[in-house]
Amino acid sequence: MSLTDKQLSIEEFHWHLGLLQNLDVGLIVLDEQYRIQLWNSFMENYSGRRDSELLGQSLFQQFPELPATWLQRKLDAVFLLGNRSFITWQERPYLFRFKPARPITGKAAHMYQNITLIPLSSPDSQIHHVGMLIYDMTDTVMGYLDLEAANRELSRLSRTDRLTGLNNRGFWEASLRQEFDRYLRSGNSSSLIMLDIDHFKQINDSYGHQAGDEVLRTLSHLIQQHARSTDIAGRYGGEEFGILLVDTPASRAEVLAERLRRAVIDTVVKYKEREIVFSISLGIAENEETQQDHNAWLGLADRALYLSKHHGRNQTTVLP
Ligand code: GH3
Ligand code: MG
Ligand code: MG
Repeated sequence: MSLTDKQLSIEEFHWHLGLLQNLDVGLIVLDEQYRIQLWNSFMENYSGRRDSELLGQSLFQQFPELPATWLQRKLDAVFLLGNRSFITWQERPYLFRFKPARPITGKAAHMYQNITLIPLSSPDSQIHHVGMLIYDMTDTVMGYLDLEAANRELSRLSRTDRLTGLNNRGFWEASLRQEFDRYLRSGNSSSLIMLDIDHFKQINDSYGHQAGDEVLRTLSHLIQQHARSTDIAGRYGGEEFGILLVDTPASRAEVLAERLRRAVIDTVVKYKEREIVFSISLGIAENEETQQDHNAWLGLADRALYLSKHHGRNQTTVLP
């Protein structure tokens, strides 16, 4: 015996419904008055609301926490134009505030959701219903956020000197090159301070390498304390540091350099019951049109630093 068309469609309807009920996706069907026509088991499980109490009820009355104006506008457009519409978690992390499926292992406070709105046409090919699919995106989002955090940490590490926490040479030199190129376009002068610890070899020899490391860390703290947030400080070599002062003339850079130099000689580094005092020499150069590139600028600051060493150390020299 063959099934009539009508029987077939009822059969189909039943197994479709069975599928939809057991789908691991939320499914709601709404009519034009936003009344709930279908509420599947995914929605029951996460919302804690049974379909028996919701069917025929207005979605917005039953869930007053929903962004009604915004969502109604989206739904109206689907009814009117007959096109699908998508809402991603980037746009709105969730529509229904559900607990994540795995609250113990997961770090998410709520389920992230992607939403698809689908026009459902009736036999008269009019759209009287809209289907709403709610996808749980939490695992994907957590993976994505973890990756982003890992990438941020990686790029921070790749630009940071491990001992001092200042920018490493590679990053600092790249900043210097960038700043020099910016100067060529804008003409706003910037200054460069190069500084080096005096007789650092003797500190290592007298107190040990570890004590030397502690001196390097102390100096880095002092540099960070004295530099402004726009200044870019880096460890250039073993005990040599650079500070790039953007949009700052050499005269102002000299004020900072001298403040830092005095702070250094006023500082006592304590290492294993021993007290270490030290000094630094500094050289300053402003960028100039005659300089070919950032290396010429750096060379001038280095030359100024050399003169400070040559004239007895613990002092600042400005060139030209
Ligand atoms: P000057 O006043 O002319 O700068 O003399 P100096 O002794 O500071 O300079 P020199 O270049 O002769 O010695 C630098 C020393 O810095 C030698 C090197 O072993 C030491 N050094 C380089 N990097 C580190 C480091 O990371 N930790 C420690 N503890 N020492 C380092
Ligand atoms: Mg030195
Ligand atoms: Mg040196």
